Amino acid sequence: MFDLNTRDIKYLSGVGPQRASVLNKELGIYSLHDLLYYFPYKYVDRSRIYSIREIDGTMPYIQLKGEILSFEEVGEGSGRRLIAHFSDGTGIADLVWFRGVNYQKSAYKVRQEYIVFGKPTFYNGRINIAHPDIDAAADLKLSSMGLRPYYNTTDKMKRSFLNSHVIEKMMTTVIQQLREPLPETLSAAILAEHHLMPLTEALVNIHFPTHPDLLRKAQYRLKFEELFYVQLNILRYARDRQRKYRGYVFEKVGEVFNTFYSRNLPFQLTNAQKRVLKEIRKDVGSGKQMNRLLQGDVGSGKTLVALMSMLMALDNGFQACMMAPTEILANQHYETVCELLYGMDIRVELLTGSVKGKKRAAILAGLLTGDVHILIGTHAVIEDTVNFASLGLVVIDEQHRFGVAQRARLWTKNVQPPHVLVMTATPIPRTLAMTLYGDLDVSVIDELPPGRKPIVTLHQYDSRRMSLYQSVRRQIAEGRQVYIVYPLIKESEKIDLKNLEEGYLHICEEFPDCKVCKVHGKMKPAEKDAQMQLFASGEAQIMVATTVIEVGVNVPNASVMVIENAERFGLSQLHQLRGRVGRGADQSYCILVTGYKLAEDTRKRLEIMVRTNDGFEIAEADLKLRGPGDLEGTQQSGIAFDLKIADIARDGQLLQYVREVAQAVVDADPNAVLPENEVLWRQLKTLRKTNVNWAAIS
Ligand code: ADP
Ligand code: MG
Repeated sequence: MFDLNTRDIKYLSGVGPQRASVLNKELGIYSLHDLLYYFPYKYVDRSRIYSIREIDGTMPYIQLKGEILSFEEVGEGSGRRLIAHFSDGTGIADLVWFRGVNYQKSAYKVRQEYIVFGKPTFYNGRINIAHPDIDAAADLKLSSMGLRPYYNTTDKMKRSFLNSHVIEKMMTTVIQQLREPLPETLSAAILAEHHLMPLTEALVNIHFPTHPDLLRKAQYRLKFEELFYVQLNILRYARDRQRKYRGYVFEKVGEVFNTFYSRNLPFQLTNAQKRVLKEIRKDVGSGKQMNRLLQGDVGSGKTLVALMSMLMALDNGFQACMMAPTEILANQHYETVCELLYGMDIRVELLTGSVKGKKRAAILAGLLTGDVHILIGTHAVIEDTVNFASLGLVVIDEQHRFGVAQRARLWTKNVQPPHVLVMTATPIPRTLAMTLYGDLDVSVIDELPPGRKPIVTLHQYDSRRMSLYQSVRRQIAEGRQVYIVYPLIKESEKIDLKNLEEGYLHICEEFPDCKVCKVHGKMKPAEKDAQMQLFASGEAQIMVATTVIEVGVNVPNASVMVIENAERFGLSQLHQLRGRVGRGADQSYCILVTGYKLAEDTRKRLEIMVRTNDGFEIAEADLKLRGPGDLEGTQQSGIAFDLKIADIARDGQLLQYVREVAQAVVDADPNAVLPENEVLWRQLKTLRKTNVNWAAIS
């Protein structure tokens, strides 16, 4: 049987070494197999042929059938272009090329029948079709003029004349060579039970569907398979790990926890906090290693849950560690935790990049002897030099900044891996969480502490800045504090910093009676801390900042968040920023400032922000608007990018369904030995070999 995997793309007719190298580099296509799995991004119904006489100025892409009467070259230099006068007997249309003039002229012959596809426009009273797709009428059998595939191509590909059309032709050749079906990649039982199209049929129909129904079935089959293996990978190895790594058993809730609960806890826990604590308690008592994702909107009180979980570790003779993505946040956690534990005999230490010398040595020593009970810090805590006497629990705050790989490093800190609690305030839609962190159990705090007033969000044009400042002044007069945030985009940090500096000066001028502080990512930590401190203590009324304040900062007296150039922020970022206010009992405001001209998408984003405070609703909307590739958290994982055909934003239901199918397989065949599943395990192995991200996730 002929194996597509070993057939180099360069031997395919019409390809050759030069085009093959472009395909390698641009699309990662090396073999015929790779090519076959390069799916169209759209299909165009080409069942209808128009006549030139029918053409008016309003038509989208259309198809004509006729002959080239003659070629004409006009213009010079960059204005040089080739015109082919094309006729179908009802009129004349000019086919125009601005690039590849010589090539195009040699590619087509006069007085031959062609099918031309393109968008007609009128130019000096003549019908023009620029850079049309052209096929010899005799060649167009395979797609039978039904739905025609369109493939994404890059500029480099186009320069080698590898357009969608050429790819289509290559695909035709490969499919013609498929004399016998390809080996099936799903088991017979799954195919039958879920009514899936066989693999080869699906591949033929994904490229050359003869009917929309067949296309739908082909897409369903391929999406099903893709999501199924993503889930099978996660579930298969999650179970393995559970068996391999026993978890520490925290048998009791003891004195430390109880003392804290009865003496130090400054308020009643919300019901959601209680529920989540119970879930965690159950995990850490089970003998399995906990891997739990705690989702809770900004301000929902995750820190307290983290602290109380750490106290459970302490009660059972273990140490605990809490990791934050930034120094500011680590500092703040440290202060919060020290305050909450006031009067209790617990040693808490802070370890960040700026803790050095003797201080650092003392902390490291204390960790080894077990004298340090709780360590709070940044990435610094996972460095190789940091070792614990008995680390029982690790809390990771704000998951999206830590990749899967970093999480894995924690497990090497002990003979046995500690329990892991990952907290995120970027509510990841359930569907995405399942794909990205499928090995994590999920808890949700879906309730804010009592007495919070919903934040009022407004969208204002920057032409109304003066009235905006009036409102800000009123708030300050009432004793409130205000954040003013400027965007920071990596590529142009200099420009943005200038925005920030100018903004700072401008604000100082506008608010001469106020103390204004300023924080950005390029500051030295000590300087940043000093500025933060000014604001936290209430000495400064206004903080001008970049998004470094996005994560975690907690100043309950701040009641106004002004976001400049709000159009430059993504939805979840806006939501995170907004979460910095509304933490006290006063009415808080978030004001999104933009220019007048806005793209449609941007307008939608702002409308969503104004309409709702619900982080989950925002996350779902964000996923729909931007697609998973841009969503925070997906970058490190890479998984969302690897999907060829399924779309997490749109195929959430299928993902859920398929997860159950995969779970059933793993449950019935935990050791991966049943003959009826052989094809599944073999395929999983192949996928793990060819895809580094897959091996990394479990
Ligand atoms: P986040 O989930 O964003 O990390 P925090 O843990 O920082 O939220 O909590 C936000 C604020 O709510 C803090 O000031 C905290 O002290 C307070 N808080 C937490 N739990 C409660 C509660 N049950 N009742 C009242 N206030 C609470
Ligand atoms: Mg927090």
